[in-house]
Amino acid sequence: MNMESNKSPVTRFAPSPTGYLHIGGARTALFNWLHARHCKGKFILRIEDTDTRRSTKESVDAIFEAMKWLEMDWDEGPYFQSKRINIYREYIRKLIDENKAYYCTCTSEQVEAMRKKAMATGGKPKYDGTCREKGLGPSKGAVVRFRAPIAGTTVVRDEIRGNISFDNSEIDDFIIQRSDGMPTYNLAVVVDDLTMGVNMIIRGDDHISNTPKQILLYEAFGADMPEFGHVPMVLGHDKARLSKRHGAMSVTAYREMGFHPDALLNYLVRLGWSHGDQEFFTRNDLIEKFDISHVGKSAGVFNPEKLLAINAEHIRATTEDELAVHLIPFLEERGIKAEAGPFLNSVIKTLKPRSKTFIEMADSAVFYFIPPETYEEKGVKKFFKPGAADLIDRTCAGIENVEPFDKPGLEDVFTDIMEKSELKFGKVAQPVRLALSGKTVSPGIFEMIEALGKAETVARLKNAADFIRKQQF
Ligand code: GLU
Repeated sequence: MNMESNKSPVTRFAPSPTGYLHIGGARTALFNWLHARHCKGKFILRIEDTDTRRSTKESVDAIFEAMKWLEMDWDEGPYFQSKRINIYREYIRKLIDENKAYYCTCTSEQVEAMRKKAMATGGKPKYDGTCREKGLGPSKGAVVRFRAPIAGTTVVRDEIRGNISFDNSEIDDFIIQRSDGMPTYNLAVVVDDLTMGVNMIIRGDDHISNTPKQILLYEAFGADMPEFGHVPMVLGHDKARLSKRHGAMSVTAYREMGFHPDALLNYLVRLGWSHGDQEFFTRNDLIEKFDISHVGKSAGVFNPEKLLAINAEHIRATTEDELAVHLIPFLEERGIKAEAGPFLNSVIKTLKPRSKTFIEMADSAVFYFIPPETYEEKGVKKFFKPGAADLIDRTCAGIENVEPFDKPGLEDVFTDIMEKSELKFGKVAQPVRLALSGKTVSPGIFEMIEALGKAETVARLKNAADFIRKQQF
């Protein structure tokens, strides 16, 4: 990192809206966002939608939605490149006027033939400069090419990868304006970044071959050079670039699978960045500790199991109030209209130590809202034996008298029954658990009873005792 620079960083995330926001894109956005937030700089969102055939409104909306879910807020934008065509034209015009760019009327067949010829003689496929000195003016079908230097080297000073040199002889007179009048990616990106004051460009290293071209454009415009940092790609378990076959790729799929956005951020940032041995980071922790110079050169391998483990940790570390906001939509999907408040919070409190995702949490929460109509069969066989009805009656009577209705009081009820009946804790607790939740596995019995409340617990215990008595043994 250029420590001498005391400019406040301006970063940007510049997705092309040709699909959902995927895991790799989210990580690029995250590095930019964190760098800006850590240094109290500015983070810009820009939608690169000049490819009108592939850009869609749905993709734009999906990107906004994912950014909002991840709470990566932007200070400026969203800018849309499609609305800035006149600005690009102005900059292209400037280059033409200064003889730094020229019109070219070579057909694609001609350019293809040049490339083949260059390759046949062992060279790089490139445009041979046919129109370079023709002084052509605009005409239908003409493109505009940048007059690239023929000799010398262009060095990319990369904050993450170090210096990378490119031989200018390998960079051809690349197109900056297509025949339909639209700017190309390299031109639009440079014009945007320089007009928006972006001074730190963090992006995937799949763009590294574009960077020397962009550097040449900055030089041609006489603009200040931004800093660059190319982050390695995210790989799948087989070390191939992460793709659909490795699992879900879209950010919103992780929301639907019940992930906490902070957990996804925590996991993504660790794919390439480290801070000692620390694995768990809250959002504020990340803002405080993120340092772009600690982003590594090697590609991170996406491991869904690790993500799940980090998610469980985030769930455990989050307040009930906040978890409620995430959980409510999952409860709604299960037909439960839960309101934020003390009851939901106490339900969550019982579930958060044992839920890896919000889906798990919602599934486990259902019984709190809907009393069991049936009981798990294997539990009935094991725990709802004839004597269980009396045991449940006695527990119920004890529970009715607990005042205040808290854990110590409930523990006394169970201890008393265990002593009088000479039964172990499990023998008393398991029938009660089944009676209250319909299941053999549930949160801790006392926490569950406290969350359900006295009236509901008593009603459920009575129902279960009736059920046992009606059974044919
Ligand atoms: N629009 C480009 C992409 O989605 C990013 C360009 C850049 O970051 O310079 O890959």
